[in-house]
Amino acid sequence: MAKSGFSLSDKVLQERRARLAAERQLLEKQRDLADLSHRLTQYPPAPAERAAQGEPPPPAIPDAQDVRRKLLDALEAMRDGFALYDPQLRLVVANRAYLALFGTPDAPPGTSWAAMAERLVTGGRIDTEGRSAADWQAALTGAEPVLLRTVSGRHLKLVQSRGPDGDLVCQIQDITEIVLREEELQHASHRAEEAARAKTAFFANMSHELRTPMNGIVGMADLLAETGLTEEQRLYTDTIRTSGEALLTIINEVLDYSKLAADRTVLYPEPFDIERCLHEVMALLLPAAREKNLRLIVDYDMFLPTRFMVDPGRLRQVMTNLIGNAVKFTLSGHVLARTVGFRREEGKYEVHFSVEDSGIGVSVEEQERIFGEFAQVESAGDRRFEGTGLGLAITHRLVALMGGAIWIKSELGRGSCFGFTLMLPVAEDDKPAETPGVPMRLRAALVIDDVLINLMVLERQLETFGMKVTSCRTAADAYKLIDGGARFDVVIADQAVSDVDGRALAARLRAAAGPGRPDTRVVMMTADAPGCAQARALDPSIHCLAKPVLRSDLFRCLQRISAETHPAAAPAEPPALPPPPAAADPHSAPSADLRRMRILTADDNRTNQLVFAKMVKNLDADFRYAANGEEAVRLWRSFEPDLIFMDVSMPKMDGRDATRMIREAEAESGAHVAICALTAHAMPGDNLQILDSGMDQYMTKPFKRAKILRQIEASRPPDCRPVSPADPRQ
Ligand code: ADP
Repeated sequence: MAKSGFSLSDKVLQERRARLAAERQLLEKQRDLADLSHRLTQYPPAPAERAAQGEPPPPAIPDAQDVRRKLLDALEAMRDGFALYDPQLRLVVANRAYLALFGTPDAPPGTSWAAMAERLVTGGRIDTEGRSAADWQAALTGAEPVLLRTVSGRHLKLVQSRGPDGDLVCQIQDITEIVLREEELQHASHRAEEAARAKTAFFANMSHELRTPMNGIVGMADLLAETGLTEEQRLYTDTIRTSGEALLTIINEVLDYSKLAADRTVLYPEPFDIERCLHEVMALLLPAAREKNLRLIVDYDMFLPTRFMVDPGRLRQVMTNLIGNAVKFTLSGHVLARTVGFRREEGKYEVHFSVEDSGIGVSVEEQERIFGEFAQVESAGDRRFEGTGLGLAITHRLVALMGGAIWIKSELGRGSCFGFTLMLPVAEDDKPAETPGVPMRLRAALVIDDVLINLMVLERQLETFGMKVTSCRTAADAYKLIDGGARFDVVIADQAVSDVDGRALAARLRAAAGPGRPDTRVVMMTADAPGCAQARALDPSIHCLAKPVLRSDLFRCLQRISAETHPAAAPAEPPALPPPPAAADPHSAPSADLRRMRILTADDNRTNQLVFAKMVKNLDADFRYAANGEEAVRLWRSFEPDLIFMDVSMPKMDGRDATRMIREAEAESGAHVAICALTAHAMPGDNLQILDSGMDQYMTKPFKRAKILRQIEASRPPDCRPVSPADPRQ
């Protein structure tokens, strides 16, 4: 058959193609329909309905082309540079800001990231800071943001991150404003630090400048007071002296605060007995408290070691401020200093200090700002209490410096409680508390005290000695118990309780015990030594304890009583005081065989020299004066003094350098002259620097006659006679 037209197989093929095309068309239509129905659900209601409801027609739905264009427009409008590279690091898209920075305004898509980076580094638009192009390129490809600076001084931040498909997304932000602001702030803080440093230096200098003339005023007033004065003149002189001393205290507080505020205060921790410190501070405040009939109570945790590593001067300063304030702002009642501690880790205790008073209290509003500077709580404008208002601000900063935080709890008109907690390492030389566990034959104690807190403190202390304690608030109550047949080994009574009479109490107890029975011993707690002497003179069996009572004193007293009343079971004597030196006391030799002491004073200030000379005028010693360090060293060689009072700040050669020279020269001979710094520097920490230079002692101006005398006596060599007839060692 001849070939004519299409073969059958061609026809079949054609039909198949047509069918496939139709099927494809059908599929497309179906897809369009699905798409349309999806859009219809996205944009309800239908246009007809919207029109019926009076709503405007919806915006035209952007197609992919539209979206792409809009995105590109948005990228162009951005201030930041933006670029996208494909996973092979070929440029896909970048905005103008990006290309401009890279110096490639018409880099086509497909340009490699390496070529772009090369242009950036070599194009001269960024400050390469002398680094090579390869170096920069390495930095630019890292994951970290890179900071760049253009040659025109703009600061840029290049941030790059990988997209999910491995694309590299690059962003360049202009951070010039932020950088400039930061620089400005840094300059400002630098300037502020400089100013603070200058201020501290200024205050340190002022300390010297202010204290030197004050020394003249206070010293001369001191001397004047020793001359024959009328009553009126004495009043004036005393006022000059006390005002001068008050002014010095204020100057010191201001200086101390400024140093703390400038973070220039350094702590010098050393082993320190905290319990003793509390008692010493209390003892200092006792006269002020006695005037107002205030009770001062120390409650120190029985199971807490007493010696800790802490800066002694600074802890004492904090305690003095808190207890001093408590005494100052309490008109009646008590002041209680309490210390409790917990062992937290090997050798470290969390020690809680608190000072509680029954004073005027602080309102809630005032409590919020009480630790700020110059915060004095004024009561309706009348200042009943003096002060700089810096004490608590200093205390607050000191406690923070020691790693603690201070707090206050107070109720107006009822009292206040200030407290703080410190983490303190126990001092290695701290002996375990010697109190509990030592044998004592006393079992039952009766305590008479009308102050509840005192009773509680004593009860706790006695109970830890293993004693059974009964408490009474009055002697009358105690008598009732005794008459009712109650028996005690010891009765401890506060002499301040109005109806307590030690002698009557002892007699009553003796009578109650009956013949042949051991006495009940009476311990009177007295606030003053004469009170104690009086009580013992009337009845020698009475024991006395001076208030505030240290727990170690209480323990020793009870041990003594235990030994007296149960001689067979007498425990070992409590640790005795160190024996007096065995060597013969050279000072007991007749004065005639002894030479006069030689004393050199170096001070550049003529007024100071004059004050000093007047103060030592009547002493039996030879004095020489030097006006600077050089002269002091020269006189040390020729005059061979036994003691040198050395001013620290002097022209030509200061006291520290002069001391160093003397000590170096002495190193050859092995001699050692006593050198005492006389200084106006009162900043805490200065004394250490001074002592570092080789001086033995440190005395702050304005100097007092009594202090000078004590210093001279302490330094008097054995072959010198006493300098004053009132020498305590004679
Ligand atoms: P000042 O030198 O005035 O005593 P402080 O900083 O030590 O300065 O105390 C600031 C103020 O806080 C005091 O003036 C007083 O008003 C108040 N204040 C401090 N302690 C007490 C307290 N124990 N009871 C009542 N008020 C107190």
